[in-house]
Amino acid sequence: MLGVMSRQSPLSGPAARPRRRAATSQATQGAPAPRGLVSALFVSSTAWGALAFAAASGLGCSHAAPRAAQAAPAPAPSPLPSLAEPPRSAPVVATAEMTEPAPAPPRLGWVMPVDHGVRADRAGGGQFLAPRTHGRHNGVDLLAPLGTPVLAACDGVARAGTLGGYGKYVALVCELPPEWGGAHLSLFYSHLSAQEVGAERVRVALGQPLGAVGKTGNAAGPSVMPHLHLELIVHPSAEEARRETHSGRDQSNNPAADALLSQLDERCLRPLGLTSRQPLRRERRLDPYLVLGCLGATKPAYQRPSGELAGASFPWQDYYRARGGDPEPVLFRAESSAPVHTAAWLQRESRELRAGTP
Ligand SMILES: [Zn+2]
Repeated sequence: MLGVMSRQSPLSGPAARPRRRAATSQATQGAPAPRGLVSALFVSSTAWGALAFAAASGLGCSHAAPRAAQAAPAPAPSPLPSLAEPPRSAPVVATAEMTEPAPAPPRLGWVMPVDHGVRADRAGGGQFLAPRTHGRHNGVDLLAPLGTPVLAACDGVARAGTLGGYGKYVALVCELPPEWGGAHLSLFYSHLSAQEVGAERVRVALGQPLGAVGKTGNAAGPSVMPHLHLELIVHPSAEEARRETHSGRDQSNNPAADALLSQLDERCLRPLGLTSRQPLRRERRLDPYLVLGCLGATKPAYQRPSGELAGASFPWQDYYRARGGDPEPVLFRAESSAPVHTAAWLQRESRELRAGTP
């Protein structure tokens, strides 16, 4: 099936170039960029502080603009791309829009300081919607050594808990800018060995450690290699996102998921020719890899796992494709600027949250 993918455009070619040009245009106009907010280092009070900074340095949030926000609107709605479709050749250069101020980008980062790809061990594959005895996998399993810190993918609100087969988890709500449909994401980090937030909701900052990779819940068996189970559910409001339980029994749909997926399709998937072997959604659940990538998250480069994790995962390009081949440099870009918040900022935000400030 992958043989039908287009290889006509190199990754540095037409599909990717307009985004970089647009970002440059915005920067020269003095539009606000997240890196301008950097003023001090976020200091974690946990043992992961140093790792958090190292991770933040590589997971910075300073996208000058949403990756595909300046691309020309796709000409007409169409079904999501599949690997069976012929390569698209829709132009993505929009010179007129490059002269306009870019909208505020989401501030998103990856969820760990390392990327070893998708779990694939004796217990099975960890890709989104992989077959499971109970039906389909609701998230994506990111292979990582035990104890690897898991990081907030946004400035948001987090809480911790324990839930059946998921074990110890942290749920994080991220609010998206209006131009992305005003959706709110509930990110669910599970099978953790440690949780850095409590049951009470608190403000957290992009790149802040939320816990550590573990083997709790149904990941405890010896055939399951340590990994982060990451789910992403879309809601139309922060309150609804905060009430999300991530119970696998609840497979209800949500209009906000429809709207966000439509946005992603028009502004990212089709312009970049992004495809996956599986559907990108299961009702209100969306594929975290493609959502975070399309929304501009930065991610450490994939590294083949070694030691006892060797051979227990597959790289992203085994499962996803962009026009030209490898999805990684199209979806994700390493950043050197760190997302930075002071401990005082976090304490103030958390006090306001407890006081009921939205
Ligand atoms: Zn999983």
